[in-house]
Amino acid sequence: MTRVLVLNSGSSSVKYRLFDGAETAAKGLVERIGEPGGDAADHRGALQRILESIPADGLAAVGHRVVHGGPDFTEPTVVDDAVLARIEALVPLAPLHNPAAVSGIEVARKLLPELPQVAVFDTAFHATIPAAGVTWAIDAELASRWQIRRYGFHGTSHAYVARRTAELLGRPSAETNVITLHLGNGASACAVEGGRSVATSMGMSPQGGLVMGTRSGEIDPTVVFHLHRVAGMPIEEIERSLTREAGLLGLTGENDLRAVLRRRAEGDPVAGLAVDVYTRRIREYVGAYLAVLGRVDAITFTAGVGENSPDVRGESLSGLEALGIAVDPARNAAGDTFISPGGAPVAVCVVPTDEELEIANQSRAALGR
Ligand code: ADP
Repeated sequence: MTRVLVLNSGSSSVKYRLFDGAETAAKGLVERIGEPGGDAADHRGALQRILESIPADGLAAVGHRVVHGGPDFTEPTVVDDAVLARIEALVPLAPLHNPAAVSGIEVARKLLPELPQVAVFDTAFHATIPAAGVTWAIDAELASRWQIRRYGFHGTSHAYVARRTAELLGRPSAETNVITLHLGNGASACAVEGGRSVATSMGMSPQGGLVMGTRSGEIDPTVVFHLHRVAGMPIEEIERSLTREAGLLGLTGENDLRAVLRRRAEGDPVAGLAVDVYTRRIREYVGAYLAVLGRVDAITFTAGVGENSPDVRGESLSGLEALGIAVDPARNAAGDTFISPGGAPVAVCVVPTDEELEIANQSRAALGR
């Protein structure tokens, strides 16, 4: 098989990348879909633009990123009518994320009817987490009826960087335990035991766990009751506040960590506290996942913040020397692949993620090529 087109469809944008083997033959972004002056009127227009801009020959499959696979989609899946209907049925579980993926798949099937379409789910890698790690202690009947449990996200990224980490260590993936820290606008931690996810920080939606650009991460659910009952906020407003106006943005007015770090360097205590909240939460999860895994070979940072911020890497893992975890300041500042001191019991790594490449590879694998 030669070329695979990977589509990441959001509500107002479509990111695309065309792979020729592992090489990128074309890539780009169609933005402000449906807005005045935007690149396209709808998802169909967006895909038409993309198809006009890429070479037409040799395209063999389309791989779609789908955020939520629910309880049933545990691996990349070739799309047919029944699969598409099942993905649509998951929209209530992921109302902010799945509708765009459904549109993307629908228009790709219409415009490229002869090509196989593969859905690759952010949740699928976490299907191996044991029941005790995905079950919340709430009314079991309610949980089962409404499909309430931890699903976890960023699975393609955690899978990719955990495998890369094992390669870099020169060890078989099946014998390597890694804590992966995907720190981008969204952020999540994952405990990977022998190549399989056994714990992750995001929950039923990409809202749980670590502090993010605009999402709160873990909070006591009483916050929601209180904002509703005492502050009188409607549920939609609470959702918007906790998903779009919280995290670093809520704490400082800036969702970009670079701006927060700049302000901290200028002496702003508000920014200083925000960075401490952000890095302390990471450290709490690292501690939890050390306990889940028992033995950890490596801790790997990835995504925008993880790949680029020595401050966050160093501060997240500070004070853990007694657990065999340390960051070498010079290696960290230089952005080396291995930033732990030579001979440290736990390797600390910086590994660029590549979710699109992983989606292309998984799409090929799903088609048996
Ligand atoms: P997404 O989750 O949207 O794919 P990325 O993984 O690209 O996002 O991460 C984007 C975030 O990375 C930005 O919001 C920014 O805060 C952060 N970032 C990028 N470069 C740096 C840097 N040099 N220092 C600190 N943070 C950075």
